[in-house]
Amino acid sequence: MSNDIKDCPVCGETIKQSAIKCRFCNTDLLAFKAGQEAEIEKPLYSGHPAIIHSVWQWIPIVLTLGIAYLFYWFTSIGITYQITTQRIKIERGVLSKAKDSVELFTIEHFDLHKPLGMRLAGYCVLRLRSSDTDFQTVSIYGIQNLESLADTLRECSLRERTRRRITSIIQP
Ligand SMILES: [Zn+2]
Repeated sequence: MSNDIKDCPVCGETIKQSAIKCRFCNTDLLAFKAGQEAEIEKPLYSGHPAIIHSVWQWIPIVLTLGIAYLFYWFTSIGITYQITTQRIKIERGVLSKAKDSVELFTIEHFDLHKPLGMRLAGYCVLRLRSSDTDFQTVSIYGIQNLESLADTLRECSLRERTRRRITSIIQP
C-alpha cells in the first residue's frame, strides 16, 4: 500500500507513485525532475589535450630528432580542460596559471572544425564563441570523441538557457 503512494515534491500532498502530474498542484512531475537533474553539474571531460593531435606535428619532431616532442608535451601539460554540463574551464600555464571559465548558457556558437592534419590524427577542434565579453573565442582540441562531446555541450547549453529563462519568468 505505502509503495503505491509518494509525496508530491512541490506541494507535499500524497499522490500515486505512478503519477506524472500532481492532482493537487498540477505540477508536471517529469519536467520537475528533469529540471532538478539539469541543475546538477556533471563532469564531462577533465584532462589535457593530446600531445600529438595533428599529423603535421611529426614533421618538426622528425626534423629535430624528437626534441620537438618535448615542446609538444610541455604545451599539452600546460593546458587543462575541465568540462561539465554547466561550464568550461581552461587552465593555462605550468608554473603560473591563467584560468578561463565560461558558463555554457552564454555560448552562442559551437563551431567544429576538422583541419586535415587533425583529421588524419583522429582529432578536431571546437571553437566556442560566448556572449560573455570577458571570454573571447576559445578553441578546444586534442580530445577524443570531441564531436559527440560538442553535441552534448550544445544540448546542455540549450537546456541551461531554457531553464534560466523559465526561472527568470517565475522570479519577478
Ligand atoms: Zn503537488
